[in-house]
Amino acid sequence: MIYRTRCWRNIGFLALLVLEASRPARASESEAPGGGVSADVRDRIAAYYESRGVQASVWDQFEAAEYDEEEYRRFVRRGVKVDTRVPIADPARIPPPGPAPKWWQELSAAKSSLTLTEETEVGLMVAGRVLREYPLWEDAESTKYVRFVGRYVAEQSMRPDIPYKFFIIQGKSPAAYSTPGGFLFVSTGLLQLLSDEDELAFVLGHEVAHVARFHGILEVERTATTRRANEALEELDTMSQKSGGEKPDLEAIADEAFKVFTGFRSRAEEDQADALGVDFTIRGGYRKECGVEVLGLLQKKLGDGPEASESDTHPKFSERIQALERHLKSKAGSSPRRRMTSTQKRFDQLRKSLSGKE
Ligand SMILES: [Zn+2]
Repeated sequence: MIYRTRCWRNIGFLALLVLEASRPARASESEAPGGGVSADVRDRIAAYYESRGVQASVWDQFEAAEYDEEEYRRFVRRGVKVDTRVPIADPARIPPPGPAPKWWQELSAAKSSLTLTEETEVGLMVAGRVLREYPLWEDAESTKYVRFVGRYVAEQSMRPDIPYKFFIIQGKSPAAYSTPGGFLFVSTGLLQLLSDEDELAFVLGHEVAHVARFHGILEVERTATTRRANEALEELDTMSQKSGGEKPDLEAIADEAFKVFTGFRSRAEEDQADALGVDFTIRGGYRKECGVEVLGLLQKKLGDGPEASESDTHPKFSERIQALERHLKSKAGSSPRRRMTSTQKRFDQLRKSLSGKE
């Protein structure tokens, strides 16, 4: 797949909402939609929000999630320490991230039947509802910091070319969520548990992995509970064969995706997101122990998890830690020549801002 990272990012968020006149081929995810903003999509989402009691002003939050590209680049450069044992021809150049671990080739080609444009539309619908339930923590500097770390981690993933959006939500309980299309949420309670940027990178990497591996939308396809949602998914299958101008019932899919969002993910998906989350952090030059540390912190805070009878669907932290340790021994990639180590000051700034919160 050809990734056109640059071109996506510079187009800006609204350009995403363009729907081409005819349905693009299903395989064309890497192609950015061109042309102007589609009022159609925005109208559909606005109608969805209205019917679900989501305030129209939520759009401002999505539009405000953009940031300055050059500032982001500076953020990366400031954090990186180059491993000087290995000579680099141009000292001003940051070495590339680590190679993709070999085991990624074994991952199934499982993909959503939605195009990226449709996935984003579903994501916006779900994200609007999320922000209705969970108030944002609107601390501009902290939010920017989380966005930069999240963007950096997402760049190390197998799906770096979608415009992920990161938000901090208020809540004492440690939690992180993601929706299809790359809307990610982390609670203030979870941020307060963490001790450095490496751990934050793992938390965000885990959620990026759910998006990059289409977990949310695949779960919807597996478990759709309403006839309307099932019909919408069938429609998507048939529509992939032709190129009509009709739209599948994305609202029905968004309703299902919201249910997935509020429920538990499967054990297989959690293990995979842990493994990939730690792979992304290693590729970016963070400490490889950060994943196990975060799971340990959550275990301490929340207890180990459900009883054995339920653990088929919802893994205990101790099981996730064991699985991640096995992954680190056998499959995780090696660290790159870049190290993300000059990060403690900026992480402490986040802690300071959080300390004013309950
Ligand atoms: Zn997860």
